[in-house]
Amino acid sequence: MILTKKYDFLIVGAGLYGAVFAHEAKKRGKTSLVIDKREHIGGNTFCEKIEDINVHAYGAHIFHTNDKRIWDYVNDFVPFNRYTNSPVANYKGSFYNLPFNMNTFHQLWGVKTPAEAKSIIEEQSKKYQKNRPENLEEQALSLVGEDIYYKLIKGYTEKQWGRKATELPAFIIKRLPLRYTFDNNYFNDNYQGIPIGGYNELSGGLLEGIDIQLGVNYFKNKESLEKLASKTVFTGKIDEYYNYEYGKLEYRGLRFDHEILEIDNYQGNAVINYTEAEIPYTRILEHKHFEFGQQKNTVITKEYPLEASTSQEPYYPINDEKNNAMYFKYKKKAENDNVIFGGRLAEYKYYDMHQVIGAALAKTKNLFDI
Ligand code: UDP
Repeated sequence: MILTKKYDFLIVGAGLYGAVFAHEAKKRGKTSLVIDKREHIGGNTFCEKIEDINVHAYGAHIFHTNDKRIWDYVNDFVPFNRYTNSPVANYKGSFYNLPFNMNTFHQLWGVKTPAEAKSIIEEQSKKYQKNRPENLEEQALSLVGEDIYYKLIKGYTEKQWGRKATELPAFIIKRLPLRYTFDNNYFNDNYQGIPIGGYNELSGGLLEGIDIQLGVNYFKNKESLEKLASKTVFTGKIDEYYNYEYGKLEYRGLRFDHEILEIDNYQGNAVINYTEAEIPYTRILEHKHFEFGQQKNTVITKEYPLEASTSQEPYYPINDEKNNAMYFKYKKKAENDNVIFGGRLAEYKYYDMHQVIGAALAKTKNLFDI
């Protein structure tokens, strides 16, 4: 007797990868059961309504992409607003615009022209030039020179990652633009914004019409859950999936301290970074500014970085050599399993939202259309 399974896919994790996968499968007539150990969908994009403000419960999520196809895709579920991320850095009480641009250079050195700024950066970075920077510190010093590195990068980076900048991969700092124009846009991408009404509109739209079970621990119910579907899509930690057989992949964790303040505007910007080492949090978010909110009160969040032990949520993969080598062992093992691994935790990759969506779209296209 051939037993038919109830679902085509069991999708473990209701974050963006799982939600896009489920949506794309449904479009092709396939059924999915999406489970999540948390009590909500959306993974770390989840917003909690407090004081009528969409509070980014797991830290700032700002959507940006250069890919029109991905921009159109998300805008089909919910229109996005015109929010442009322009964080400000607070270093020992002085404010500097981010990313590193003519406003920052003027604030640092009083320079008024790109030529003056370039000449200072060249002067401060020339002794650090080398063919292949081996770590974040070398990369940063060779790109922006000493003042910017010591005031705006070193302190922030070392508390964010809990490691010396000399022990971190160079690519992390290349996320930040450096430009010689008066342009405070944190991203270079063509498209940017926040879903109008918050990210739950996006995850809700993606998962519409799909069976979801929340508060379900996959590992505790693995056997019975896998009986329900022909194939598993796993978006959790790949090392946990394999019971840490090759060791634990390291992550940087975060603690969020949310506060309601009975004032309408606390800091005048959605994100202010605290770049000195002595202040224990990396940034303060003021959530209403992501959506130009006019509510009476405000909600702020201090982000405290910390080491992610297994009991805490993992946020940032630490893609240094040691961890990458361990991940590749898991990846090799996964190639022989009939399971799809996708997303930041399963691919151990510092993905942004648009990249996760791109990865899930590519995977489903490959699976269903080729
Ligand atoms: N960074 C920094 N100073 C800042 C902001 C960022 O040195 O004021 C560095 C830091 O190493 C950080 C990296 O740039 O980890 C990437 O920052 P991004 O804002 O892209 O990180 P995310 O928003 O993903 O935490």
